[in-house]
Amino acid sequence: MERPLDSVIDLQRALTDLGHANERLHGIPDWMQELHEEHSARKTEMEVLEASIDEAVAERRTAEAEVQDSQEKLKNYQEQISAVRNQREYGALLQEMDTIKDAIRALEERALAALERQEEAQTALLELQESFKEIDGRYQAELVKWEAEKPSVAKQVEALEARISVLRERLPPASLSLFERTLERFGGAALAEVRIIERVGKAQQIWSCGICNYRVRPQSVVEITNNGSIVFCDSCKRILYIENVAG
Ligand SMILES: [Zn+2]
Repeated sequence: MERPLDSVIDLQRALTDLGHANERLHGIPDWMQELHEEHSARKTEMEVLEASIDEAVAERRTAEAEVQDSQEKLKNYQEQISAVRNQREYGALLQEMDTIKDAIRALEERALAALERQEEAQTALLELQESFKEIDGRYQAELVKWEAEKPSVAKQVEALEARISVLRERLPPASLSLFERTLERFGGAALAEVRIIERVGKAQQIWSCGICNYRVRPQSVVEITNNGSIVFCDSCKRILYIENVAG
């Protein structure tokens, strides 16, 4: 006699395994995780330093360009000195020139400070780059190892996909659609194990849903055990199965 629950359990297992295999194929493997995080953190640190170098260079160039502009203006004023007609004009001109000289000094300080920041960041970057070489060497070696693992994982994925399509066809369409709706509703895990929570006397057993703890009726347990029927938890609506009967 057809026991849809058996196929549902097999299908759920194959789907869970497929999820793990795909994670291994496309995600960072567990054994590489720590090094991957360190590698990324160092890379980020270097990027931050590179950005601050760029920022300092831009700041210095802007200040230097402004120094040139101001010197140009100063030269114009100097050329005007011979043309002044009285003391008042002369005094005003000198004051303009002083203002520009102050501005030039401030701009030169800004350029120098930016240059210092640039050089500090460059020194720090060089040190980081030096120590990164060792981490990157190990990382590249692990990437090679990971790449070498991929074909066998890809084969597992292929085999699981083939098994899944066989199991899907084996299930009556109504059962398959019940399962798939439940699977979708619960993010890929449609099943809940039935557990014995209490024994009262010799014959009486109390069963509950392993996920939500709601009580499972004895009649449901009989249907699951004897017929392999698809029975839902009355509370969380997952498909119930019993471990030692399953499979
Ligand atoms: Zn439940």
